[in-house]
Amino acid sequence: MTEEKGVSHQLVLLPGDGIGPEVISAAETVMVTAREYLRREGIELSWEAKPIGGAAIEEAGKPLPDETLTAAQAAKGVLLGAVGGPKWDRLAPQERPEAGLLGLRRALSVYANLRPATLLPGLEGHSPLRPDAVAGLNVLLVRELTGGVYFGQPRGRSGEKPARSALDTMAYEEGEIRRVAHVAFRSAQRRQGRVTSVDKRNVLETSRLWREVVEEVANEYPDVKVEHQLVDAMAMLLVLRPQIFDVVLTENMFGDILSDELGGVVGSLGVMASASLADDGPGLYEPVHGSAPDIAGKDLANPLGAILSLAMLAEHSLGLPLLARAIEGAVDEVLRQGLRTQDIGGGGQGEKVIGTREMGERVAAALAQSLHSRQALNATYF
Ligand code: NAD
Repeated sequence: MTEEKGVSHQLVLLPGDGIGPEVISAAETVMVTAREYLRREGIELSWEAKPIGGAAIEEAGKPLPDETLTAAQAAKGVLLGAVGGPKWDRLAPQERPEAGLLGLRRALSVYANLRPATLLPGLEGHSPLRPDAVAGLNVLLVRELTGGVYFGQPRGRSGEKPARSALDTMAYEEGEIRRVAHVAFRSAQRRQGRVTSVDKRNVLETSRLWREVVEEVANEYPDVKVEHQLVDAMAMLLVLRPQIFDVVLTENMFGDILSDELGGVVGSLGVMASASLADDGPGLYEPVHGSAPDIAGKDLANPLGAILSLAMLAEHSLGLPLLARAIEGAVDEVLRQGLRTQDIGGGGQGEKVIGTREMGERVAAALAQSLHSRQALNATYF
């Protein structure tokens, strides 16, 4: 971080709905600590909050107000809580809170979705898999986010009962595959140097193109080992031997499904983070969970997914990987101390269940301690 001296980073927080504001507020507590230490290094961190989703419908009449979009586009990074809730479920699809999030992803052109699936210390018992099958699990799923069957045209329905039909189109252009493949290979270079590309080459034309282009990109990364799996086999391998994978690269719909499977393997939605990245402009960082209306407003939500999303923001949008590692280390530390939110509190020995706010404060305190001791060891601690 010392090379960043004199830099100023502006972030936008989009708390959203349900537990969104609670988990973002906990992440903000961690940001306040980070800001204090960054300032000593000549790096200014500032942020402002804007409405999105249901909160924006209430405040501005639409789920993605222009003011929110403009602020997000001008920011270095955007940290979002969650959107949606029963209050807005009856609205037409384009008016619902989710339309705000999809609109934001589209406007920011965030085509690469990074979702780490890591088994955090002490959470082995929360996976449905045997503890020895998940110990040390650390997979990064890279999912193409703006192409494929979710966006392909034409699409629609026709005909009347009993002759109704529906059509979706799965389409990929070479460039869309190439750019997300580069993200996966570059990520692998910083990890264990392995990419597993997932497709359905035995059936789909798009998958045949996918594999061809991934092979071409792989030639540019001789230090990274590439292998290919069919998506059906991969679905099985992720529950049989998830520990053998490093970076998993796949297209939009397969990634949607496999990333939820990995979420199940890791055992708690509340601790999962994500980053959605574009070539230029801000990244969008969000915990994987939704707005959890069942526990909203009760100080019960686990904020670790939001805090770990902040760590991803520090790494990918601020270029501060050491701050990211320090935040991750602070999360590990509070878990090692036995502190748990109710979703991961299994009543184990030495465990203590605390609320959302306190979890944010404990992580911030652990971060402050780690940054302080780094400074004591080395004046240029980052
Ligand atoms: P959800 O993720 O909100 O909740 C699923 C279950 O997990 C609930 O029992 C909830 O209490 C629990 N949970 C979720 N996050 C938690 C956390 N941080 N700590 C502790 N427990 C947690 O999914 P859902 O119930 O299917 O959806 C609720 C609303 O969220 C819907 O309106 C949906 O559209 C929306 N949603 C939004 C996003 C997003 O904003 N990215 C993602 C998924 C769902």
